Amino acid sequence: MSAPKTADRIALVTGAARGLGAAIATRLAAAGHPVVLADVLEGVEDVAARLRAAGHAARAIRLDVSDEAAVGALPEALGDWWPRLSILVNNAGISPKVEGRKRPVAEIPLEEWNRVMAVNLTGPFLLSRLCIPVMRAQGWGRIVMMTSQAAHVPSSITGAYYGTSKAGLMGFARNLAAELGPDGITVNSVAPGRINSDMVAGAAPGMNEAFLARIPLGRFGEPQDVAEVVAFLVSDAAGYLTGTTIDVGGGSYMP
Ligand code: NAD
Repeated sequence: MSAPKTADRIALVTGAARGLGAAIATRLAAAGHPVVLADVLEGVEDVAARLRAAGHAARAIRLDVSDEAAVGALPEALGDWWPRLSILVNNAGISPKVEGRKRPVAEIPLEEWNRVMAVNLTGPFLLSRLCIPVMRAQGWGRIVMMTSQAAHVPSSITGAYYGTSKAGLMGFARNLAAELGPDGITVNSVAPGRINSDMVAGAAPGMNEAFLARIPLGRFGEPQDVAEVVAFLVSDAAGYLTGTTIDVGGGSYMP
């Protein structure tokens, strides 16, 4: 079976209404992939409209990645796009804070813990599970998990549930990579450090400045910095990479 051509490699990007997800969807569209932008926010329609206005094939879907029934309805919603879905970027994520600061473990309500796990970890599981058969049928697929530097080291900014969910996501990516390699499907993680986005803008005064001082490259990342790495991982150039993590943090984390 020959691998599908770029224009037949449809990419689904979650959390695409803004921030990293919007940049990733835009970058993949520029590379020639038709893109499906999924998000809970209405603004996802605007991002898709901008891509269409620029001449790209793009569709928006309002979707809560943690909702099993809604995820299960995707193939029907996408119709004839579904059989060519071969790239999945599990980017949607949440990082609850209290007045811009992390909530200490002793004060985390179970409901908030469960919500973080549902969006950051179960969502990628539900979507990956859904996409496996259609990628297998094409004999080619790419799954990228948006994890975080907080999966490697405890963070002073994000709550323990965030780092825990992202470390879980990395573990899930490795298990999936081992299972799906024989099908021509690669699974990798991208672990951003501090990237300018709404999520980062919400930090309490002083926190971002303290983090900045620890970045050898002397600046926060831009969503584009992450989008470039994702574009590489879903390309043929990354065909021999699977089960790995690429850190995109300006050197703020060095294993
Ligand atoms: P953001 O908050 O700006 O964007 C996240 C997007 O995900 C939003 O559009 C939001 O509506 C969407 N989303 C949230 N819950 C959802 C759900 N249940 N279903 C569908 N969509 C949902 O954040 P960002 O900075 O762009 O982060 C994107 C990803 O990168 C997240 O997974 C985040 O954890 C990760 N990350 C970001 C940074 C950073 O510094 N910005 C660092 C490390 C990891």
